[in-house]
Amino acid sequence: MFGFGFVDVRGLRRMAAKQVAVVGAGIAGLGAAWRLAQRGFQVSLFEREQRPGGRARPVIRENFTIERAGAIVSAADGALLSWIGELELPELLPPRPVVSALAHRDRVRVIDSRSLLGVARIPGIRIYQALRVLRLPRLVARYGNRIDPERPERAASLDDRSLADFGRLYFGVRVMEQWMSPLVTRAALADAREASRVLFLHHYRDGAGERLGLLRLSSQELIDRAASSVPASLGVCVTRVESRSGGGVRFNLREGGREGFAKADAIVLALPAPEAVELAGAEFSFAERDALEKVRYAPGLSLAIALRRPFHTHPQQIQFPHREGWPLESVLLEPGVAGGRVPEGRGLALLRATGSWSAAYFEAPDGTVSKALIDALGRFFPRVHGAGIFTEVLREKRAVPRFDVGRYRAIADFTRIQADWRRRGRRIYFAGDYLMGPGWNAALRSGYRAAADVEEDLGPSTQSAVA
Ligand SMILES: Cc1cc2nc3c(=O)[nH]c(=O)nc-3n(C[C@H](O)[C@H](O)[C@H](O)COP(=O)(O)OP(=O)(O)OC[C@H]3O[C@@H](n4cnc5c(N)ncnc54)[C@H](O)[C@@H]3O)c2cc1C
Repeated sequence: MFGFGFVDVRGLRRMAAKQVAVVGAGIAGLGAAWRLAQRGFQVSLFEREQRPGGRARPVIRENFTIERAGAIVSAADGALLSWIGELELPELLPPRPVVSALAHRDRVRVIDSRSLLGVARIPGIRIYQALRVLRLPRLVARYGNRIDPERPERAASLDDRSLADFGRLYFGVRVMEQWMSPLVTRAALADAREASRVLFLHHYRDGAGERLGLLRLSSQELIDRAASSVPASLGVCVTRVESRSGGGVRFNLREGGREGFAKADAIVLALPAPEAVELAGAEFSFAERDALEKVRYAPGLSLAIALRRPFHTHPQQIQFPHREGWPLESVLLEPGVAGGRVPEGRGLALLRATGSWSAAYFEAPDGTVSKALIDALGRFFPRVHGAGIFTEVLREKRAVPRFDVGRYRAIADFTRIQADWRRRGRRIYFAGDYLMGPGWNAALRSGYRAAADVEEDLGPSTQSAVA
């Protein structure tokens, strides 16, 4: 049981249920905890920060909600949209439509890449080049259930070439550079030369190119609602996890200067891979440790500008094709609305640097980052100079896991190792974007998957749903 005195573990009284600890209140951990609670498990969620949300947590300043990833959703984010519905947050939906645009030769052009005609109209692509995209649905059909975003390990045999090589070979340079590459760089801060083609195939299969939308309110609403639907202990760091000889797990906890331990029937580690390694000491095999240590992340460097006046009447996301040394990957322009994330009459510009520029300038002073990104945007919107009420530089060393060539093979190996440990009775489970795909929707699905594995191993639990 959770015998940890100072941790507020509500539900201790209902001992009939099987007890599961979830470590990490990012989207993956919140999803796992919520799903387990729904299925009748007695869940305790531990988060070392004072606020839940992890990398999805927005920054709130002077009535502006700054979403690190823009909180952009599309119809492809089915799990996330359903979750919002199940958490009874209708005020976040329907998403506020976002106009997609592409910067091309110092001009911004609106694009709609949901159809072949739309792809053909993307600046830089000619109709005969776009026609080659007709091969894509046939190709994906041929790959069959190997392209399964719920089971990324199934794509291991396709994980043999980069998106750039695949795109050039099958669809030509133009289609690759102007359509395929922007689709994945926007969502995953990926570099097409290194990203696995599977990343693109998953995006395509999931409905990449679907119309984008913004959550109507801050994602903090979603995070807080999810965290309050399960017993969550904030400010509590899990420092070590080990299997118990009689079954289940024992784990150490730290809150402020105090230390203690607790026990559970199972534990879900919903943490970035390097942080999961730190927890398990000798518990992990060499192969597991090696697999977790090899997960690489793209750093995220963004600049938010709170605008005195919005630039557009509708939200717009502009993508910038990659060029050597060019800093800007995309910009999201969000006009404020009454009761929304940005005050009415104001605007917010979220400028995201490319992965390579973020890596090169990660440690640069705020002033250097702001100037470079504002100057780049100023080539298209000269009025951005002097338009800001305030600016905020956002840095995240490990923003998004990289799904480079070889990553899906590594996931397949890791999944096999986990299946073996589960058969041998170990009750430690993993969740997180690095196991499923970049982004909130994938992180959530990884949490659901860990919850399903727990249920399969422990059997059904008896407690009535907590949520
Ligand atoms: C700048 C930036 C840009 C991004 N851009 C996009 C984008 O455009 N599109 C997109 O879809 N996604 C984007 N993402 C990624 C997206 O936010 C993540 O994929 C997702 O939030 C990951 O969720 P997670 O639950 O897997 O991990 P995390 O959010 O990292 O959650 C892990 C949690 O575990 C906690 N924790 C760690 N160690 C311990 C411990 N020992 N004990 C207790 N708690 C612990 C952490 O504090 C954290 O809350 C971006 C992220 C950032 C930061």
